[in-house]
Amino acid sequence: AARADGQLEKPAVEFRDIDIHYGKFVAVRDFSLAIRKGSFVTLLGPSGCGKTTILRSIAGLVDISTGQISIGGRRVDDIPIYKRNIGLVFQSYALFPHKSVFDNVAFGLKYRNVPKPEIARRVGKALEMVRLPGSEKKLPSQLSGGQQQRIALARAIVFEPEVLLLDEPLSALDANMREEMRVEIKKIQKETGITAIFVTHDQEEALSMSDRIVVMNAGRIEQIGSPEEVYEAPATAFVADFLGKANMLPGVVASVDGQKATIALSAGQQVTALSPKVLASGARVTVVVRPQKLSVGTSATGNRLAGKVVSTSYLGGSAIYEIGIGEGTIIRANTQIDGRLAREGEAIDVGFDPAACVLMDEKGFRI
Ligand code: ATP
Repeated sequence: AARADGQLEKPAVEFRDIDIHYGKFVAVRDFSLAIRKGSFVTLLGPSGCGKTTILRSIAGLVDISTGQISIGGRRVDDIPIYKRNIGLVFQSYALFPHKSVFDNVAFGLKYRNVPKPEIARRVGKALEMVRLPGSEKKLPSQLSGGQQQRIALARAIVFEPEVLLLDEPLSALDANMREEMRVEIKKIQKETGITAIFVTHDQEEALSMSDRIVVMNAGRIEQIGSPEEVYEAPATAFVADFLGKANMLPGVVASVDGQKATIALSAGQQVTALSPKVLASGARVTVVVRPQKLSVGTSATGNRLAGKVVSTSYLGGSAIYEIGIGEGTIIRANTQIDGRLAREGEAIDVGFDPAACVLMDEKGFRI
């Protein structure tokens, strides 16, 4: 990133060629990432993909096997945890149960020998930031789960760390509280301008909160991009599936007209798709199309496939249909309902724009 004075700004956090082993098991492989100062970056992936391991390596809680980690341009591989200027928030709030809110939040400041009046001022400010002003004397047990997580957040930001690490901080909260806290955390991050690294397996959380998303799978990075990029232009079949359960329709290129390819689906019907590269006839491809991009019934447009309703889930205003399109292939459509809800077993057309699909090659990479 270029600064106004033309100098290159140092990344807030940089990973170079990181491998992390637990004994013989390789939990993270070839991990390289530069995180811009003040940005909100999410590590997203299924359970066991290595996201927590990466997060913990920043804090020094896990040793890296190879590579380098820098914070603000300074290598930290050999710097002990307490000298790394990092705020941490975990899934479990990890508050001291017998200490007051004040003492919980003040912990990092006392530890850093900040003078008493300054501690009181900063704790007050942090509690205001998390919208719990005046709660200094309460005990954690007197607070709701969401409030406790706010206190944990206040404790993490009170000493103005260079980096804030958030490991699934919302997963212990109920659905409503989770949504509220998403907005809240994002707001606090913007207000403080702190660099935040967030770990989750929840795609909605990642899409709604992040400036950039790092999608991980089995210890490796699948794709790095903005929420729109990873959603609209998934680099791999894994990303397409993990973010929003895309429909994956395997087939063979039947004919090609410039960038327009006609694809014979294994399901037995044909579709046209736009490809950034001119494809060869006979090539095996997978047509990837999101449930939200499908139209059904009389409003089906573009590629029109004949199908039969397998199941219907009414969501109020919209519905998710599972539609059989032949040879055991089922396509999911998430669509607005204007008129009557189609019933199970009914014949129905399903359509999508040739430009709405992404093509993957045989190895699962975007063409
Ligand atoms: P989750 O969302 O379930 O926490 P994750 O993506 O954060 O998953 P990690 O916790 O980073 O995954 O774990 C990555 C892999 O390393 C997993 O296969 C896990 O079993 C393994 N692992 C994690 N910690 C250790 C450890 N201390 N010793 C051995 N293996 C470990």
